[in-house]
Amino acid sequence: MPDLPPIREVIQRHGLAASKALGQNFLLDEQLLARIAALPGDLAGAQVLEVGPGPGGLTRALLRAGARVTAIEMDRRCLPALVELGGSFPGQLTVIEGDALKIDHNALMLGAPFHVLSNLPYNVGTALFVRWLSGENWPPLWQSLTLMFQREVADRIVAAAGDDAYGRLAVLAQWRSDARLAMKVHRSAFTPAPKVMSAVVHVTPTAMPDGVSARMLERLSEAAFGQRRKMLRQSLKGVPGALEALAALGIDETRRAETVSVDEFVSVARALVNNR
Ligand code: SAM
Repeated sequence: MPDLPPIREVIQRHGLAASKALGQNFLLDEQLLARIAALPGDLAGAQVLEVGPGPGGLTRALLRAGARVTAIEMDRRCLPALVELGGSFPGQLTVIEGDALKIDHNALMLGAPFHVLSNLPYNVGTALFVRWLSGENWPPLWQSLTLMFQREVADRIVAAAGDDAYGRLAVLAQWRSDARLAMKVHRSAFTPAPKVMSAVVHVTPTAMPDGVSARMLERLSEAAFGQRRKMLRQSLKGVPGALEALAALGIDETRRAETVSVDEFVSVARALVNNR
């Protein structure tokens, strides 16, 4: 393994003062970074997409694990540090300068399966997460998502029906994927330390339930959670056939969205597709 300087030294040498506008909070603890890089399992020879490598802390952990990494970074100040890191792992690192929200990830990865690892600012991370989990094409090309979120967002992703945090994000993350909270990360692990705690979420795709359209499921959960305190008979009134589907499935229409399990949403979406 190449001997690398501490990340703190890389940051200082390349003048990478953290930018608030770019949501930069860097991880410097190499043991913690190695544990995050190990969450998808053995990455030797695997293709990895890393979004927002910054000075390359997680990147170096991935390279040490033997991954072939494609990293998208928006802050061009970080590029020389990343190119330097790539030099220590010949042929393993490709660095792309750009906005990950504007790039077609499947095309970038040349249509081959890949794992995603990322520590992103909250707004960008959530937008990408929704994009990775949406659409009719399933299974996706990504084999796993290992993503750092602020704790409150991670709770919303893994919440179960009845939890305060349960809502659209949980349904999206769980109806055809396993989503688990893999690691809690104290805010002091970051430089500079953010105000809130963080957590790493690990997601793997599962089989898409038969006879369900993603569009219908999303429409249902959007309507239901758009008025989460209202009874289903009110919140789903605008979705044609939904109230009849509830009755046929024996789901009480006086319940509220927050009590409806992911499996129940799937059943209603299936009934609506079948009744078309
Ligand atoms: N991965 C590094 C780490 O863990 O220390 C840096 C994490 S820092 C929280 C987030 C990184 O994402 C920054 O380097 C920032 O410049 C980059 N970034 C922010 N928005 C981005 C976007 N839309 N596309 C690509 N990179 C982005």
